[in-house]
Amino acid sequence: MVITRKVEFSASHVCRVPSWSDDQNRTTFGEASHPHGHGHNYAVEVSVEGAPDPITGMVIDLKDLKQILEEEIVAPMDHRFLNYEVKPFDTVVPTAENVAHEIWRRLDTRLQGGAARLHRVRLYETADLYVDVTEVGDAT
Ligand SMILES: [Zn+2]
Repeated sequence: MVITRKVEFSASHVCRVPSWSDDQNRTTFGEASHPHGHGHNYAVEVSVEGAPDPITGMVIDLKDLKQILEEEIVAPMDHRFLNYEVKPFDTVVPTAENVAHEIWRRLDTRLQGGAARLHRVRLYETADLYVDVTEVGDAT
């Protein structure tokens, strides 16, 4: 069984490779390469998979999941400039793909050893663009 919780955060980013020229960055990333950055209202759907506990009927304690999402996503990323304030985006281009992968990595680490495991991270960068990560290898 798969259960999904959604959280939202707002953050700024710049998509550019520091070692490239402005022209090369503009050709590759378009307006998203502008050095002053721009913001998104990100939404993340986190799906966790497991068998419901026979007594509680729960795949995972949703209070625990909410706390983990707060600590790993909202607290470190909300109202931040990802490139300058959130690792590893000082060295990794914070595309939707890479942000989704980083969220997967953080949550997968936190859920290790529990009864439920991470099934999917879906990151919406805009209403009409989202990225799914379903296993660690997806974005590496
Ligand atoms: Zn953007």
